[in-house]
Amino acid sequence: MKPADTVLVYQSELDYLSRCILDYPHIETGGQLFGYWTSAGVPVVLYAIGPGDNANHQTTFFNQDLNYLEKVGGVLVHEFGLQHIGEWHSHHQLGLAHPSGHDASTIYDNMLKHRLRWFLLCIGNCTNTTSTINAFNFIENTPRYQESQWEVLPMESPFRKVVDRRLKQVLRHPYTKVSALVGMKYKSTMVHGVKQHYPEGYWLNEKSNNKVLKQMLDFVQAQYEDFVCSVSLDKNKLVHILAKEENESTVVDILFPIGFPKQSPLITFEADGFCASGLGWHSIDGAIMPSFVEYYNAHRL
Ligand SMILES: [Zn+2]
Repeated sequence: MKPADTVLVYQSELDYLSRCILDYPHIETGGQLFGYWTSAGVPVVLYAIGPGDNANHQTTFFNQDLNYLEKVGGVLVHEFGLQHIGEWHSHHQLGLAHPSGHDASTIYDNMLKHRLRWFLLCIGNCTNTTSTINAFNFIENTPRYQESQWEVLPMESPFRKVVDRRLKQVLRHPYTKVSALVGMKYKSTMVHGVKQHYPEGYWLNEKSNNKVLKQMLDFVQAQYEDFVCSVSLDKNKLVHILAKEENESTVVDILFPIGFPKQSPLITFEADGFCASGLGWHSIDGAIMPSFVEYYNAHRL
């Protein structure tokens, strides 16, 4: 059996790691990754943690605060049923975008010791303002690893808010508030468990726009506390953000047409059949999110 060449991850957790890395641009930092493995050995990252207060940050190594790991990990494993599937640390600006020889042998030793079949190691790098994260899958009986690509679910992990709430007194979150991911090795995007091949020229072929889609989803969700908002794909492989009532009936349907963001999103308020006309859409290069918020607010009922 070979190690998997992909890692499934929720956008919220990549953003969290990016913020953690940016907290320490000149020194190592790190943490653990929780989730589970698919039957094919693909890691699914559902919740990431950063360093505890007593973690040891050095230029060329990082040791987690074990007390912190035990407290947080204990709840994640025993209350939420997640597994400790891997670790991450940052090689900040060392110029090393993969595991060091020492990293690989440490993982190998630990896998032997704890009889682990698979393990995921993520290595971060950064500048003072941007970060990247590379994923490496390990498999039992060899210190060799497989460099892997990210398969991103463009939404918040279902565990992020509940665990944050449950461990409010214990968790240490990054000071950096905004993530900045560049140079990521993405495979493709999954929407509702389906691998996406968008039409040619579609805005979501630009991988960095996954994050914008997630920001828009969060924005729409914040407008409709009582409804469930989600990303969905129509038969033309175009993306919609839908707000639905509990009985599944759609309240708001926001379609991103093939010409988006030059063309406006198509917002339909289903209850009264009102459809935003495209009037007032100002597409600003590289700033889809503010354009979207302005347009949405101009047309909301
Ligand atoms: Zn290292």
